[in-house]
Amino acid sequence: MKDYRAYSFWLETCGDDLTPRPPLDGSIEVDVAIMGAGFTGLWTAYKLLRRDPSLSVAVIEKEIAGFGASGRNGGWCFSGFPVSPRELTRRYDAESARAVSLAMFDSVDDVGRVCTEEDIDAHYARGGEREIARAYYDLPQLREMWAEFDAIGLGDQMQVLDAEQTAARIRVNGAVGSFFNPHGAAVQPARLARGLAHAVERHGGRIYEQTAVTGYQPGPNPKLLTGRGEVRARRAVVLAGEAYLASLPGMGRAIIPLTSHIVVTEPLSPDIWEQIGWEDRAVMGGFGTHGGYLQRTADGRIAFGPYRGVYPYGSRITDALDRQEAIFEHARRSARLWFPALAGVRFTHAWGGVFGMPRDRMPTMSFDPRSGIAMAFGYTGEGVATANLSGRVLADAIAEVDSDLLHLPMTRHQPRPWEPEPARWTGVTFVRRERDKQLRLVERTGRYPERKSLAQRFYNW
Ligand SMILES: Cc1cc2nc3c(=O)[nH]c(=O)nc-3n(C[C@H](O)[C@H](O)[C@H](O)COP(=O)(O)OP(=O)(O)OC[C@H]3O[C@@H](n4cnc5c(N)ncnc54)[C@H](O)[C@@H]3O)c2cc1C
Repeated sequence: MKDYRAYSFWLETCGDDLTPRPPLDGSIEVDVAIMGAGFTGLWTAYKLLRRDPSLSVAVIEKEIAGFGASGRNGGWCFSGFPVSPRELTRRYDAESARAVSLAMFDSVDDVGRVCTEEDIDAHYARGGEREIARAYYDLPQLREMWAEFDAIGLGDQMQVLDAEQTAARIRVNGAVGSFFNPHGAAVQPARLARGLAHAVERHGGRIYEQTAVTGYQPGPNPKLLTGRGEVRARRAVVLAGEAYLASLPGMGRAIIPLTSHIVVTEPLSPDIWEQIGWEDRAVMGGFGTHGGYLQRTADGRIAFGPYRGVYPYGSRITDALDRQEAIFEHARRSARLWFPALAGVRFTHAWGGVFGMPRDRMPTMSFDPRSGIAMAFGYTGEGVATANLSGRVLADAIAEVDSDLLHLPMTRHQPRPWEPEPARWTGVTFVRRERDKQLRLVERTGRYPERKSLAQRFYNW
């Protein structure tokens, strides 16, 4: 039996017994069969059951609820969407871009509301999202972030702060300014995932763990296939495996897994917190080679996730991917650069996981009533709040109610296939290396190149 507590600090400290639930034992028939007990599968189950408590819903999970990215992420429950408002406007129109942002704002609220209603102690702290510029040449990025929202009529909700205003909230070494988005909350993600799983069960859903889905069949009675029996669905089969979907037959080119990694300190002393500030616990990020995503945890630690990762050849996900010592060391160094007060502080945990990246960066949230197949995936590392939106969208779609959510562009999105190997690995690895090289050049020259490189544009990077 795996020691699931070892997969992240969050799982270790989620306060829940991680003993797996019983597996599927023979074929069953339900209304809705869901593959994957991460945020996407659990929100979809939860929203369906809240809408219609008479539905029978089964969630089929290979490991345990929260085993994947949902139990390992940075805990940024924020309104960020993988495709920016400007790019959504370019691909669709300004109205769609605005609708996506507003739906994401609602998701951040909804996560907090459900935590309260269901008594899920996910350490939800509504402090907003703060992006810090630690070099003057990053200041235009802050203004650009604001301008993107302003162009869709939401600029009044966002703020750009100068160095002094930023320091009044948080003391980051070398900070010259920041962007603030109030639509963000820090969460303890494994507590959220485990709490949601219990809520799904309280509302009548069944979760089968230790049961791997090996395939699916569309049709009037779609089904999930497993080595322990079939799960036949009267209404819909939902594919909610994010990066892991790459290993399902027929899905290998719809999504690729990329790793992300996090290190966390021991709880900091009141003295150090006095120096740093950060009382609002806003989730916080920054740019450059030492950029990353940060959280002040409820128990007073700093979690730091660097923007560095690995694409495994052939999209093969293994536990060995989680342990990248060079990336951990880089993260610890970056955290100390941000906060010199961490010099003598111990880092107690380090882990990794995989998130899914679609070829065009656009998430898919779709249901095809003819095939009975629903799917939601492709969050490119911004899936904590987005998965809640997926759950709301799929619940409306499967229940066949017409709602504004069903007009969002993700509902009609067809994933663009990734190139086959070895072109895929070569391309992704090349672009990632080129991006790191470019960041180093920016730091040497003090300015960004006028245009993205051809390779970056090719991959929507
Ligand atoms: C280190 C890291 C940091 C991140 N930080 C953030 C952040 O701060 N904010 C943010 O918004 N997003 C972040 N993300 C992304 C975010 O965590 C994900 O987008 C989100 O959790 C995806 O949820 P999911 O349910 O779709 O997928 P997952 O949580 O990956 O769930 C998929 C589930 O499917 C199961 N599964 C796999 N194969 C099978 C099978 N064959 N049969 C049955 N079940 C199967 C897995 O065990 C897993 O439980 C981060 C991701 C990582 C890895």
